[in-house]
Amino acid sequence: MKRLEVRSLRSCVSVRARPVTSPSWTSLQRWHVSISSTTTKSTLQSPQITPPASSRRHVPVCSTTTKSPPQKISFAVPVQQGFPSHQQDIDAEFKKYPPPLSIIPTTTLLRSLLMTYVLSSPHLVNLSLPLLAAIYHKDAFLLNPDRNPVLRFVVRKLFYDHFCAGENEWEVRETIVDVKGMGFHGVILGYAKETIVGQSTTASSESTKIKTTSASEQAILDWKEGTLRTLSMLGRGDFLAVKFTGAGPDVTEALAHNQPPPALMSSSLSEILAQARKQNTRVWIDAEQQIFQPTIDAWTLDLMKSYNTASDAMVYNTYQAYLKFTPEVLARHLRVAQGEGWTLGVKLVRGAYIAVERRDLIHDKIEDTHRAYDGIVDRLVKREFPGVEGFPNVQLMLASHNANSVARGYNTWKIRLEQNLPTIKMEIGQLQGMADEISCGLVQERLLGKGVGPRAFKCLCWGSVQECVNFLMRRVVENRGCLGRTEMWMSGLKGELWRRVKRG
Ligand SMILES: Cc1cc2nc3c(=O)[nH]c(=O)nc-3n(C[C@H](O)[C@H](O)[C@H](O)COP(=O)(O)OP(=O)(O)OC[C@H]3O[C@@H](n4cnc5c(N)ncnc54)[C@H](O)[C@@H]3O)c2cc1C
Repeated sequence: MKRLEVRSLRSCVSVRARPVTSPSWTSLQRWHVSISSTTTKSTLQSPQITPPASSRRHVPVCSTTTKSPPQKISFAVPVQQGFPSHQQDIDAEFKKYPPPLSIIPTTTLLRSLLMTYVLSSPHLVNLSLPLLAAIYHKDAFLLNPDRNPVLRFVVRKLFYDHFCAGENEWEVRETIVDVKGMGFHGVILGYAKETIVGQSTTASSESTKIKTTSASEQAILDWKEGTLRTLSMLGRGDFLAVKFTGAGPDVTEALAHNQPPPALMSSSLSEILAQARKQNTRVWIDAEQQIFQPTIDAWTLDLMKSYNTASDAMVYNTYQAYLKFTPEVLARHLRVAQGEGWTLGVKLVRGAYIAVERRDLIHDKIEDTHRAYDGIVDRLVKREFPGVEGFPNVQLMLASHNANSVARGYNTWKIRLEQNLPTIKMEIGQLQGMADEISCGLVQERLLGKGVGPRAFKCLCWGSVQECVNFLMRRVVENRGCLGRTEMWMSGLKGELWRRVKRG
C-alpha cells in the first residue's frame, strides 16, 4: 500500500492510495485515495459539502471534523453517468475501459520507458547533469550540440526527443498533430530560448555579452521572430508560452532593474498579442527567477489589463507556489483585477528554479510547497481568497505533475460544478514527457464524460538542441528530486507495455 502525505495549512491529512486491480501504479483511474483526517480545525476548508447521490465518490479533500472516517476520492469517472456504490461495481466499471496509457502510440511508450528508466537511476542522472551543464556553459565546438553532430545525436536520442517537440516547424507540427490526435484539448508551445542568471553571473554581466545597441535590439527582433513562428504553429484555444528573458540583454537588464519594457520590446509584444488575439490563441508568461520575477509580474499585469477585458482570460501570469510570499502576490493581483474589472489568468506551478534561486525565498520543506500549492488551488476554486473582498473573474491553469494535487484540485472543482457552487474556469496541463499517466487519465476522463471533464493540455518546448539544454536540465533535476514517483511512472509504463504484449 502506498502512502502519500498531504498537509493542509492547519491540518494533517494522510492520504492512502491503493491500486484496485494491480500492485503497480498502472492507472490513476484505478486508484482510490482514502483520506483519513487528523485535523482539529482548518480555515482552508471548504464548507462541508455532501455530494449528491450521483457523485458520491467525490468528497471534499479536507474535512473540518476531528477524526472523520476514511473517505474516498476518485479521479476519473464520467460526471453524468451515475456512480456505482460498491467497490466491485466500480472496478467492473473501470474494466470496461482501456487504461489511460492505451492512447499513447507504442513507439512513444517505448521511448518513455527508456527515458523514465534513465531518470529513475540516480547514477545515470548524476552522469547526465554535468554533461548538460557543460553543454550549457561552454561554447566550444565539441560541446555545442548545434555544431557538433555526434553530440547532437546523443543528446537528441537521450533527452531531447523525449521532452522537446522539435527543432523546426515541420517536426513541431507533427508533434502537435500527435498530441491532439491522442485526445488532448490543446497544446501549450514555447520557444526554448532564455537567459539563466547563475550565482557567478549577474543580469548586467549577461548584458555585456552583446555590446552594441543594434546587437541587443537584434536579440529582441530574433526573439519576436521566434515567438511569432511559435504562434504560427498554434490554433484556437491553444497557448503560446512566452519567456521574457529569451529577448536578450536589454530585456533582462530592464527586468532585473524593475524598468518598463524597452520600446522595441513593447512594440514586439503588441504585435505578438495582436496576432494571438486574431487567431484566438491564449498567451501565458512563464515565471522565471526572482531577480526578474517582480518586473515580469508588473509587465504581465499591464498586458492582462489590456487584453483580459472579456470574461475569458487571454493572457495568463505564472505563480510559483514554492515562494513563501506567493499568496500575498496573488491576493494583490486578485484585488487589482477585481478593482479594475478584468479577468485574472492564473497559471499555478510549484517553481522550477530551486537549484539557482535564493533559498530563503523558497519554503523550507517540500511538504510546505505542496501545502501552499494545494491551498492556493483550493482557495481559487472556491473563490475565497484571504485578503480579497469579492472576487474577480479568474481562469486557472493547474500546471503540475503531482498526482495528488491534480486529483485534489480537479475533484474540488468538479464537486462545485456539480453542486452549482460558485467556482472558476479550470484547465490542467503537464509537460511533454512527464506524468503521461496523469495526462492520459485526464483525457480519458473527458472522453468518457462525453466532453464533460477537465480540459487537458500538454506543454511542448521547441528550439535547437543547444537552446533547449537549460529546459532539459530542469527536467532532469526535477526527476532527480522525485525518484520514487519516477519509479511509479516506470511501473505504469511497464504495465501498459505488458498489456500490449499479452494482447498481441
Ligand atoms: C505545464 C507546466 C508549465 C510550467 N511552467 C513553469 C514556469 O513558467 N516557471 C516555473 O518556474 N516552473 C514551471 N513549471 C515547472 C514547475 O514549476 C515544477 O518544477 C514542476 O512542475 C514540478 O512540480 P510539480 O507540481 O509537478 O510537483 P512535484 O514534482 O511533486 O514537486 C516538485 C517541486 O517541489 C518544489 N520543491 C522541491 N524540493 C523542495 C524543497 N526542499 N523545499 C521546497 N520546495 C521544494 C519544487 O518547486 C519542485 O519543482 C511548469 C510545469 C508545468 C507542468
